[in-house]
Amino acid sequence: MRSEELYKKALKLFPGGVNSPIRAFSPYPFFVKKANGSKIISVDNISYTDYCMSYGAMLFGHAYHPIVDAVNGAIENGSLFGAPSEKEVELAELISRHITSMEMMRFVNSGAEATMHAIRVARGYTNRMKIVKFEGCYHGAYDSMLVKAGSGATTFGVPNSLGVPEGAVKNTIVIPYNNLEKVESVIKSNADEIAAIIIEPVIGNAGLILPKEGYLQKLREISRDNDILLIFDEVITGFRLAFGGAQEYFGIKADLVTYGKVVGGGLPFAIFGGRRDVMENLSPKGKVYQAGTYSGNPLSVSVALHVVKELRKRSNSIYSELDRNCRTISRALRELVEKEEIDANVNSIASMFQIFFTKNDVIDYASALTSNTTIFKKYFSGLLSAKIFTPPSQFETCFLSLAHTKEDVNTTVETLSEVM
Ligand code: PMP
Repeated sequence: MRSEELYKKALKLFPGGVNSPIRAFSPYPFFVKKANGSKIISVDNISYTDYCMSYGAMLFGHAYHPIVDAVNGAIENGSLFGAPSEKEVELAELISRHITSMEMMRFVNSGAEATMHAIRVARGYTNRMKIVKFEGCYHGAYDSMLVKAGSGATTFGVPNSLGVPEGAVKNTIVIPYNNLEKVESVIKSNADEIAAIIIEPVIGNAGLILPKEGYLQKLREISRDNDILLIFDEVITGFRLAFGGAQEYFGIKADLVTYGKVVGGGLPFAIFGGRRDVMENLSPKGKVYQAGTYSGNPLSVSVALHVVKELRKRSNSIYSELDRNCRTISRALRELVEKEEIDANVNSIASMFQIFFTKNDVIDYASALTSNTTIFKKYFSGLLSAKIFTPPSQFETCFLSLAHTKEDVNTTVETLSEVM
């Protein structure tokens, strides 16, 4: 197999043979030739129905023509300017008009950059240094957030990475998700020292974990009452749970919000933004420094402009369509769990789902960790052999796209039945 050959070469060139840890799996990952719609095609010409969807980035599916056209149209006029351009203003106006919490924003290139800078501006604004984060939430691979981090950090057993200086994490307070008492007690014992609470409103990086009824609303209340900024990390949920992301879905206005993945349509693009009085502290207006050579580059901005415009126009139908397909798959999974008497639970919301091989309801990181990852690996390999590609780890989430057809969904349900 060509993939196996490439993997052998890659192992000598890249640590673990990959350029991001979660791409590695046993015995070897398939190498991609191309991707189109709901399919990802390997160098061995195997076509997989893709529920990884670039870890949630490809809401429109792969090689979506209007996005391809947007890139081609933009690159003709130059790929990087080092000076502002008109489309940046158009995009920011569109976002702030429709997502009211986004009074001001900055465009960056990755989710990690977005959350890192949101945290810095929160610290600069409040002049406090402590940040509350939740176990199993992942905000990017940088020092202060690599504490009990989900995603690949959990999959490969490094939720607290080596190489992170003690000083870099001493201001990171980590508490369990879905537990308001812990939030209250941590605020009490760190009075006037906490700058912000950062949260994935729906966790997509420890498998899929949903907030308990009223949890996020109460978190909003507590943070407001204590003058602590609430940062919604919507790198996964933004433009996916609804056009207005988790803020719209749960009816909550955060102080700062980060976006990535969907909004960039597959190009490196992310946004952080929110309250004007906070964002105005960024350089050159304020004294919090943030910068980037590729920030607001014309290729990503052109694509994002298309993504936001099209999602806005079609928001009445597309989110319900995604929801319907996701319900069909997650319902089938739940029925199979029951019928085959498997110790497993299925979590799902909007266009996201995941199965956990544990008897326990998965409501936080600790319960996610009770899953049997050996069984998960068999499940993943079974699906892969049947030409369905899901993220290879228990601690990731499956994603539907608008390119998944009814036929894809029906075939997937049949395959799941064999695999389970
Ligand atoms: N926040 C969340 C919620 C994420 O899921 C991710 C990536 N999976 C990030 C931040 C980091 O984004 P990136 O990989 O683009 O740096």
